[in-house]
Amino acid sequence: MRILILFFIIISLPSCKKKLKVIPISSFENIVKLEEALGYERTCEDPLNYAPDEYTETRTIRVNVHFLNDLEGRANFSLAEGKEYFGKMLRNSNKRLGENQKMNLPVGNDTPVLDPSFRYKIVGISKEDDGFYSHRDSVHYYFMNKGRKKNNYSKAVTKKYAINDDKILNIFSISHPQDSLESKTYKAFGTGIALGNSLKISGIYSNRTTKPWGFATLMNHEIGHVLGLAHAWTRYDGCDDTPVHPNCWDKNSPPPCDGTHSNNVMDYNNQQMAYSPCQLGKIHKGFNTIGARTRGLIFEDWCKPISDEQIIISDHLEWKGHRDLRKDIIIKAGGILHIHCRLSLAADRKIIVEEGGQLHIHQYAKLHNSCGDKWGGIEIHSRKDTEDQLFIYGNAKIEDLTESSSIQSKVKL
Ligand SMILES: [Zn+2]
Repeated sequence: MRILILFFIIISLPSCKKKLKVIPISSFENIVKLEEALGYERTCEDPLNYAPDEYTETRTIRVNVHFLNDLEGRANFSLAEGKEYFGKMLRNSNKRLGENQKMNLPVGNDTPVLDPSFRYKIVGISKEDDGFYSHRDSVHYYFMNKGRKKNNYSKAVTKKYAINDDKILNIFSISHPQDSLESKTYKAFGTGIALGNSLKISGIYSNRTTKPWGFATLMNHEIGHVLGLAHAWTRYDGCDDTPVHPNCWDKNSPPPCDGTHSNNVMDYNNQQMAYSPCQLGKIHKGFNTIGARTRGLIFEDWCKPISDEQIIISDHLEWKGHRDLRKDIIIKAGGILHIHCRLSLAADRKIIVEEGGQLHIHQYAKLHNSCGDKWGGIEIHSRKDTEDQLFIYGNAKIEDLTESSSIQSKVKL
């Protein structure tokens, strides 16, 4: 059965003072100009299609910090000390996110260096609450990687104390056990583990003479796990731009190390300062995928429209991967925008296709508003037929338009 779709498009003539006209585009076939070539997996599923670009806004992740202490208060910072130490640490973690480094490996690589485009913000759940918490708990106050008391993978402590963990990344500072610390052979190293939207980080208090920035990259590593990243030295991390390697600590590491070492955040090394485009793509894929666990952790800034700035498109652009944007999009003469996946525009924001510009809405695309509001629709600015400006493919969806939006669609079977 042939599906006919009639599109009524208001044509506005910004330079002329003519009235707006509604011109029907005669049939679905008339606006399909190209064969669809890419499948959903190669577009909306591929993490590389989410690597930050000039249209990606920085996302802010809500975090809080819990200090687990024993009943005597010997095992961790006081709340005031902890606030100061972890406040400084997270500020330094954020600073390092702003200083993403070129990948060391593979040797001779030309892997791009992108802005990670995410940061952390410590939040409480009320005005009186600053997002730092102290708990005295004889059962859950310690963290152990091995042996009889091994509890590193246990979620007992996060289940007991996590606050709003669908919205806030809960960080648990937990010490090594008190009796282990008293042993001269025990190494109370900094370590951590990610458990859903919570993470446990250990060895900070035992090494509190280390400056807070000394643990900032451990924090970024553990939060990287929460955001969906695997260890990068294996072949199973889902990223081709993070090569397999023997995980050497620095240039002086013994064989099989040969003087080269990784500087990736998700490897073990003395730098942990590089995120690859694929890793950042994986993180932002979570942020941009409705229903993804990590999308809940970020502030929904995209729901606040920006009216005094526009996204100007004046050359050929392919938007693969989902996006949430909050400015008008203006496609200038010569500009061609292909939308392949979900695109949310904030309340009343529009896509304007100026004369000589083209908008292609592909078969897996959905244009909508992800905030429960209405967006402003598509305007085609042209003095002639619009057939060469708007192209809609397959089952592309256009939803959440205001009553007066510039594009309306009717489906006839
Ligand atoms: Zn790890």
